[in-house]
Parts: sequence; C-alpha cells; structure tokens
Amino acid sequence: MTESPREAGAEPLAVLIVGAGFSGLAMAIRCRQAGIGPLRVIEKADSIGGTWYDNTYPGAACDIPSHLYSLSFAPKADWSRMYAPQAEILAYLRETAERHGLMPLTQLGTTFQGARWDEAGAVWHVETDRGPITTRAIVSGMGGLHHPAYPTIPGRDSFTGPAFHTAAWDHSVGLAGKRIGIIGTGASAIQVVPELARIAGHLTLFQRTPPWIMPKNDHAIAERAKTRYRRLPLARRLERARLFWLHEVRAVLGFTRVSKLTGQAEAVARRHLARAVPDKDLRAKLTPNYRLGCKRVLISDDYYPALQRRNVTLETGGIARITETGLATEDGRTHDLDVIVYATGFDITATFARMDLVGRGGQRLKEIWADGMGAYQGITVAGFPNYFMLLGPNTGLGHNSVVSMIEVQVQHVLDCLKALRRGTRAIEVRPEAQARFLDRIRARLADSIWQAGGCKSWYLDAQGRNATLWPDSVMAYRRSARRARMADYRLG
Ligand code: NAP
Repeated sequence: MTESPREAGAEPLAVLIVGAGFSGLAMAIRCRQAGIGPLRVIEKADSIGGTWYDNTYPGAACDIPSHLYSLSFAPKADWSRMYAPQAEILAYLRETAERHGLMPLTQLGTTFQGARWDEAGAVWHVETDRGPITTRAIVSGMGGLHHPAYPTIPGRDSFTGPAFHTAAWDHSVGLAGKRIGIIGTGASAIQVVPELARIAGHLTLFQRTPPWIMPKNDHAIAERAKTRYRRLPLARRLERARLFWLHEVRAVLGFTRVSKLTGQAEAVARRHLARAVPDKDLRAKLTPNYRLGCKRVLISDDYYPALQRRNVTLETGGIARITETGLATEDGRTHDLDVIVYATGFDITATFARMDLVGRGGQRLKEIWADGMGAYQGITVAGFPNYFMLLGPNTGLGHNSVVSMIEVQVQHVLDCLKALRRGTRAIEVRPEAQARFLDRIRARLADSIWQAGGCKSWYLDAQGRNATLWPDSVMAYRRSARRARMADYRLG
C-alpha cells in the first residue's frame, strides 16, 4: 500500500529509509521494534525486494547459503535449497515485510533524488520524484549494485536484435533455439550460462577474464530437516552458526590476503576444473592467471559442464566491436547473434554520483567523495548529520553473508536514532574519528588480496583504491561497529 508523499511543512518524519531491499527492510523492522517513528520507507521500484526484485535472469540464486543469507530476527525454517533461488528470496522478503507491518509505511515507485540539511531546523529536506519529504534522519539502504554497467564497446547501439542486461532481463524475448551471445563471466554469468545453454540454438560466451570457481554442492533441503528447524529453533540457529563460521574462517584465513591457504584453495579450484573439463585447450582458457580471492570467488557445479555442450562456444579473444548482426572479435572473426546478454556487472559509483546530498555548510557528498568514497564504519560521514548508510563504503563482503554486515550496521544506526529520540537534535561523526577509522582500514587494505592479487576488479575505483570491501572478518566488523561509540560522535 502506498501513502501520498508528506507535504513540505508537515511534521517531519523521525526516519526516512531509502530502499526496500534487505537493508532498508531490516532497518524498518528494527525501528518499529524500538518504537522509533514516524517512519517511512521509499523505494524506486514498484515492489520491495531490492536486488532480489531486479535480478530475474534465468538461474538467479544466492551463492551464500539461505540459512545464513536471511535476517537473524526474521528466520525462515523451510528454505527449499541450500542456495535459494531468486523467487524464493523475494517471497521471503515480501512475507517478512508483511509480517512486520511494513507495507503501510512503504511508498513504492518513489526515487530519492537528493537531500539538503537544514541546520536551523535540524532536519533533512528530501527531494523525490513524487514530491518533497522532511525528515529528522535518513537511512540509506540503497546498496551499490543496482545500476547496470554496460561495456564501452564500439557500436553497442548498432545491434538490431534484442540486447539486455542480466539485472534488467527482458522476459518478453523468447530464447529457445536462438543464437545467444553473453558478455561477461562474473557471478551473474555463471548462473545464467547453464540455463541458457540448455535452450539456446547456439550460445557464445565472451570471456575477458576467467573466474576462480569452487564446487557448489547445492542440494534440496530434506523435509526432515525443515521440520526439525520449524520445531526446534535452536537447531536452525546452530545451522546458521555453522554456516557463518565456515565462511568466516575461510575468509579470514584465505580470502582477504595472500596466504598459504590461498594456494590450497587454488588447488581445490584447479582440481574442480580438471575433473570437470578434460579438454586441455579449454581448461587452459578457463585457468585464471591471478590469485584466488582477488575477484569474487564463484561457486558452481554446472558452469563447466555447460561450456562443453556442443551448442556452446567460449571466446576469449577481445571484443572489437558490436555490429548490426552480432559481435566482431579482435582476431577478425564475426559472430552472428540473435540476442546479446550483458552480464557485465554494476556501476557502483553511479548510485552516489546521481544523488545530490548537501550537508552542513552547503558541502556536497559527491564533491567530498570525488577522490574516493569513505565513511566512518562505512555508515556516517562528517558534515552530514543524521545521515546513515547501510552497505556504505568498505562494508561489502566477498566471502560471507552481507546480511551479517547489515545487521551490525542496523544496530549501530539504532543507537544513533535512539540518541536523537532522547532529545539530541543532530548526531554527526567527528572528523578525527572518521579519519582514524579510514587510516586503519586503508592500512589493512594495502596488502590485501584485492590489491596484491594481480587482477582488475570492480572492487577498485579509478585510482585503484578499494572503497567497496571490508578488509577483515565479519566478527572484526562487529567489534568495530556494532555499538555506536558516542565519543566518536558530536551530539548537538
Ligand atoms: P561482475 O562480477 O562485475 O562481472 C562482470 C563481467 O563482465 C566480468 O566477467 C567482466 O570481465 C565482464 N566485462 C565487463 N566489461 C567487459 C567488456 N568490455 N568486455 C568483456 N567483458 C567485460 O558482475 P556480476 O557477475 O553481475 O556480479 C556483480 C556482483 O553482484 C558480484 O560480485 C556479487 O557481489 C553480486 N552478485 C551476487 C550473486 C550471488 O549469488 N550472491 C549473484 C550475482 C551477482 P573482467 O572480469 O575481465 O572485468
């Protein structure tokens, strides 16, 4: 259900939450439980769900186990599989929002355009495409992975057939029997390739960099286990804890810096490749030449088999241009196609570049961040009182469930919102606390695998700095950020 936007001049909201994906919904639930209001969630799409509403490509699923990739305070006992498909995760988010009474507070189809801090009134004046909103605090649950990135290949607009991005799937296009070209071999591509290979007349996959791929071992969760999780919440919590520590240990020991374990993990991935792909030439094309962990480590059991189907070709020569009828590769060959699928990832800087946030003294967030993004605990920025980010800079994860990070951040923000409820008009991180935090993580990032692993990835910005990932364990982040230390904030 939607309500009409609040008129300028009406009593301000206590909190405006932007985005109704995992982050925004988690924040809204916690605010309601803490009695913080009036509260509103705005969402640009016509449904809640965030990334799980946008990404409907065939094969879309989560590569983190479902019992871990869900909110600890909104558990689901009957996940169908170890790694739930997109539709089930979306249904979970919808049910969770309904159960916690969030729908009446949620205004769909409303895009956040920017906000200006009003020092005298200690409120934010927010602009949306459906009118202004005044609020004491803003929590951004916008995430970074929702503006599809299209490659800058010459001739991209000249292709006359259907062409679309994995995150904006065109379900009206029939793909059975078609000649399909897929560009990209990241987390989205390896899920969609096996699905399209089954139905395509011919599928050509254009790879620039081969990913490291570990076995997935996905399976349906037995009815017995579901019943046990339903009857014994402790059993479900233990399963979640088991999965958490499995990912945590793997990450701390092997996936954040080059270590002995990196080599061991690479050996596992190489064996996986060798078992799956007997052909030496194809195996060579699929063998990465950078360290495992430098890019997101992928998991799949059906990607390598799909590449060996008779109707599938892997092209590793660079793409020279896109033509009216397909693609031309740098080796001079042309590839006639009926459909092009861009599995080319997201433009994370676009999210921030598009919104205009004007803080204290007229300073603009995008100008402050022109040389690189950064925030205290990834959540708050000096000069921007009462503005909080979920999954902000340096709080992404490549190795564990981001939902664990979101829950830490939600707790931190709640501490700040409670301070506002106790009569504080504005809460703003002290610049020196922010600088100390950023120095600490930048030092830790210096020898991280993303910097030293010999690859290029979207984790690094144009200057080669990593402003996307948390460089440590989830537990370390929990210790660092779970409680908002009031000494690091200026309360006014
Ligand atoms: P991605 O990891 O950024 O992969 C993009 C792919 O497109 C890469 O293989 C890249 O090659 C290729 N590419 C980009 N421009 C190209 C060009 N001009 N020519 C040829 N190839 C080009 O994007 P994604 O697969 O959508 O994944 C993005 C993120 O979304 C993931 O890291 C993850 O955080 C999230 N995700 C998660 C799941 C999940 O199951 N949890 C699933 C999907 C996505 P290079 O490697 O050479 O750059």
